[in-house]
Amino acid sequence: MPRRRTKSPKPRPCDSCQTPSLVRYRIQYDESQEWQLVCPECQKQCSDRPHYRYGGTWKAR
Ligand SMILES: [Zn+2]
Repeated sequence: MPRRRTKSPKPRPCDSCQTPSLVRYRIQYDESQEWQLVCPECQKQCSDRPHYRYGGTWKAR
């Protein structure tokens, strides 16, 4: 019988609002052009910005 995995995914805080999230998006959203990992909510809000750039999805495991 396969052993049950005891590890569960750990949410990580959003770089913008600090809300723990299991899924975060790697985006740039200002002139600094630094990559941030943000929750889906912040990603939605930032997608209107002129400097918005999407760099991938991060998932907890
Ligand atoms: Zn957020």
